Order: sequence, then C-alpha cells, then structure tokens
Amino acid sequence: MIVHVDDTTTSARNALRANSPKPHNLTAPNDIAEALIGRNYISWSSINAYMRCPMRFRLQYVEGQQPESVSSSLVFGSAIHSALEQHFTRLFAGDDSSDLDELLAVYDRVWHEETQTVRFGKAETPESLRDLAGRMLTAFLSHDAATLGTSGRLLGVEEELRGAIIDGVPDILGRIDLMILTDKALRIIDFKTSRSAWSASKITEAAPQQLLYSQLVRPIADAFRVPVQVEWVVITKGKSPKVECHKLTPNLAQIHRTNEMVRGVWRAICGEFFFVNPSTMNCSTCPHRTACETREG
Ligand code: SF4
Repeated sequence: MIVHVDDTTTSARNALRANSPKPHNLTAPNDIAEALIGRNYISWSSINAYMRCPMRFRLQYVEGQQPESVSSSLVFGSAIHSALEQHFTRLFAGDDSSDLDELLAVYDRVWHEETQTVRFGKAETPESLRDLAGRMLTAFLSHDAATLGTSGRLLGVEEELRGAIIDGVPDILGRIDLMILTDKALRIIDFKTSRSAWSASKITEAAPQQLLYSQLVRPIADAFRVPVQVEWVVITKGKSPKVECHKLTPNLAQIHRTNEMVRGVWRAICGEFFFVNPSTMNCSTCPHRTACETREG
C-alpha cells in the first residue's frame, strides 16, 4: 500500500498527541503512533534517533521539544540536497540541467530560510562552507551521476511513499531521492555528503534505511517485473571533492534483519523505554542537550 502523505508541524503534532486516547487503550500501530508521537507513521530518522539515544527520541518525538540549535552539517547537507533535487527536477520536467550558479542559488536559499541558531564547527564559517558547496557541486556536475536521470525512465524525484510493511509496526514513511526504472531494475538512489570516502562498514550502517525503502517501492518493481536495486551517490567534502557510487541488491535475509530491528525499536518505544545514552558522538551534536541535562526524571 503506497499513499501520499502530508507531514505536520511540531505544534500540529502536539495537538494531535494531546487529543489522542492513551496509547495503552489502542491496538492499531498507526493509532498508537499518533497517540505517542503525534503522527500516524514512523520514519527512518525517528527509528535511528531512538537507536542513537532513546532520551533524544523522547525529547524530540514524544515531548515535541523544539531543538535548541541546528548543526551546520545538517543545514549544509540539506542545502546540497535541495540543489541536487532542483537539478533532477529540471531533468524530470524535460528541461536542461542546471548550471553551478543556479545550484548555488538553491544552496543560498536554504541557508537564508534557516531560522534556528546554527552551530558551526571549529574553523568553519558560512563563507568556507559556501566555497566547499561550490567545489562539491562542481564535482557533481562533471560526474556521470549528474546524468543519472537519462539512464532510464525517471519515475520520481524526492518521492514520498508510505506503507504498512512490517507487522505490528506503524506505516513507514520514506522519501526517495531518485527513482529510475531501467529494463534491468528499479533503482532507488540516495544522495549523501560525507567527510570521507565510504567504507564497507559505512554501507552496512546506511543499508537499513534503503532496505526499508526497497520494500516501499516493491509494488512498483513488481508491476514492471524487475528487482529493486539500492544505490548511494556520495559526494565527499574536502579540498578536492569526489563523487562515488555504491550499490546493493537487497536480499531476503538483510530485509528480515532490518525489519526485526525496526520491530524491536518500536516495541521499546511502545514500552516507553527512554533512557539517556550519553557519548561524545551523541551529545556533541544533540539539539536537546540543555533539556536533557536539566531534567530530573
Ligand atoms: S544530550 Fe546526550 S544523553 Fe542527552 S538526549 Fe542528547 S544525546 Fe541523549
């Protein structure tokens, strides 16, 4: 089952949560999700947030706390992502691809629209990040990845899908960066920015999200009688950014393992197992640090 979904704002989610029956009186996973987190589905980012730190999940998704700040890497990644989206949306519409200036204009717009306090890293400035964006987008435009949309039938750009794919778990919501149909596969492609080239273990870490999405697009692949192929296009940060492509053809064992992991996380959320998991990696980027450190329970 695949349907379009409209996400809601934090205040709308809080209102939904406040007016929902208590979770323990409910049985349908989507209803439980709505009562707990104010949305009747779960996303990979929320599952991942729980796995990193259950307290962070509670503060963000259960209590609906506004983030205290946003990291520059998050805004940067989102600005590059929007620029790539613009590039492929134009190809999708049959227009010429964008040039560097057009993509940088999209990058600038995302930064301009950011309303939260941005936390910059050491030696980082808005100007140094914009220079980096220019180098990364230049590397992208001169790589084969920029012409991906012409390698088959472009079915979707930033396509939002949701579906009931795991028993006992709310609908999964996913946004697929690029979906291309060829006579050999339905390719779902995720764009990433990264400090360094991806290793095999990085692919293993990134796989669960795409393995969930591969199930969301399964009905489309079945309709065209082709397998699903998962791909990542990674643009590295640095003086001379590189564009690298990675592939994975999902197998049943990987999918089963991912689904069991998500089911386990959902059970823990329903059981309201929310504990702190402090670590340098988790806490240094946590947007709810003050709320966490000052709470008593
Ligand atoms: S500050 Fe650390 S322990 Fe607290 S919620 Fe954030 S990530 Fe978790």
